[in-house]
Amino acid sequence: MNGFVYLSNVVTLALDREKCNGCRMCVIVCPHEVFTVENRKARIIRRDQCMECGACALNCSENAIAVKSGVGCAAGIINGLLRGTEPTCDCGSGGCC
Ligand code: SF4
Ligand code: SF4
Repeated sequence: MNGFVYLSNVVTLALDREKCNGCRMCVIVCPHEVFTVENRKARIIRRDQCMECGACALNCSENAIAVKSGVGCAAGIINGLLRGTEPTCDCGSGGCC
């Protein structure tokens, strides 16, 4: 799903390359091709295409990825507006994100 870019420089996605073991799971699960793996280490190549779904962090066995998931989805934005809080879709780790 290339070409769809969210707001620039607002994504919470963070990668700790020291922890990465190069398993490529983040490459496999990311719907927006945000990651690549080079020399057995992941690298973020399309940060602004991240929709903060959280799939990469949930599937990284080394806890090398951190992202504040749920804040980019429509449900999360609407919830935040209605409540006057940070956006959240309330799905938790076992839900849609
Ligand atoms: S899923 Fe985690 S350990 Fe595997 S390549 Fe991605 S960042 Fe590295
Ligand atoms: S949070 Fe979702 S869109 Fe963003 S890098 Fe991870 S898997 Fe890709």
